[in-house]
Amino acid sequence: QYILAIETSCDETAVAIIKNETELVANVVASQIESHKRFGGVVPEVASRHHIEQITITLEEALDKAGLTLDDMEAISVTEGPGLVGALLVGVNAAKGVAFAKQKPLVGVHHIAGHIYASRLEKEFDFPLLSLVVSGGHTELVLMRGHNDFEVIGETRDDAAGEAYDKVARLLKLPYPGGPEIDKLAAEGEATIDFPRAWLEDDSYDFSFSGLKSSVINRLHNAEQKGETLKPEDVAASFQESVVEVLSTKAKKAAEAYGVHQLVVAGGVAANSGLRKALQETFENTDIELLIPPLKYCTDNAAMIAAAGAVAYKQGHRAGWDLNAHPGLDLEKYGKRGQVPQD
Ligand code: ATP
Ligand code: MG
Ligand code: FE
Repeated sequence: QYILAIETSCDETAVAIIKNETELVANVVASQIESHKRFGGVVPEVASRHHIEQITITLEEALDKAGLTLDDMEAISVTEGPGLVGALLVGVNAAKGVAFAKQKPLVGVHHIAGHIYASRLEKEFDFPLLSLVVSGGHTELVLMRGHNDFEVIGETRDDAAGEAYDKVARLLKLPYPGGPEIDKLAAEGEATIDFPRAWLEDDSYDFSFSGLKSSVINRLHNAEQKGETLKPEDVAASFQESVVEVLSTKAKKAAEAYGVHQLVVAGGVAANSGLRKALQETFENTDIELLIPPLKYCTDNAAMIAAAGAVAYKQGHRAGWDLNAHPGLDLEKYGKRGQVPQD
């Protein structure tokens, strides 16, 4: 049983095909990073136009790679939100077009559910599990008691972790996207600068990264005024240490408090080498199994949407021909959606 998935929520045009829920048979990602680099970030208008140019090519390439046709598909799944509305619309309309033409069921998928389900391509989920979602737009701790059952027990009150990485990278004049650049630089430096850790209230699983970002700005500014030279690699290493310490400590505390079997790391920042290492050490001598996706499934891709879409399809989630893009789609509500056709 094959499910096709389309992802166009941000700056990656991606199509994947999955067999029997977890066997990936094609995974094509057309990245637009080069086009956005000169603007230092994703320009929504440019992103939409790229998606339009790439979507058909990407779709055909995925089918070619799998040696399959649209007739072989059981259902068509697509990211319906959250994300950039113009970008999402390209994927949603492409999915509706092929699903309608071939009279196949259509399944809308939540982008963050996709990031979480990326781990299921490698290992079966064992509920209850806790997911640490760390992406460009989200930083959350999500408790799952079953498939598509999401409870957000903590989230960022300001910037997302990836956003903090990108903003600090810009301060250090590193190219976009800044996360991987800081990661590389941090490996060459020492965490000699004492940046704050935002622990918030004792019983809170929320996060905050704006104070850390301000602290980096102030430190760089002070150094400049005093004519002192700060090594950028030390700033990167110190910043990364603060982020990683808070993320791994809070994830462990929550995982133990809720008695979960697995900690599933999700989103672009899951590619961070400092975070991967810290989490491995943190969960090493616990009964909690750590799942971190391979690097290529951390940042945006359609394999993860296929993995989440296959589960939603099996549960009976169906979208109508009026499916729209939902830039602010709520994860908990998405999970609770009718298990019957919505038509
Ligand atoms: P969302 O998933 O919340 O809608 P998004 O899709 O834009 O946002 P992702 O593609 O999941 O975000 O992740 C991109 C983010 O991950 C960027 O902020 C990027 O800087 C960050 N990132 C990627 N690799 C690394 C890394 N090695 N270290 C730190 N951050 C990284
Ligand atoms: Mg991206
Ligand atoms: Fe993403």
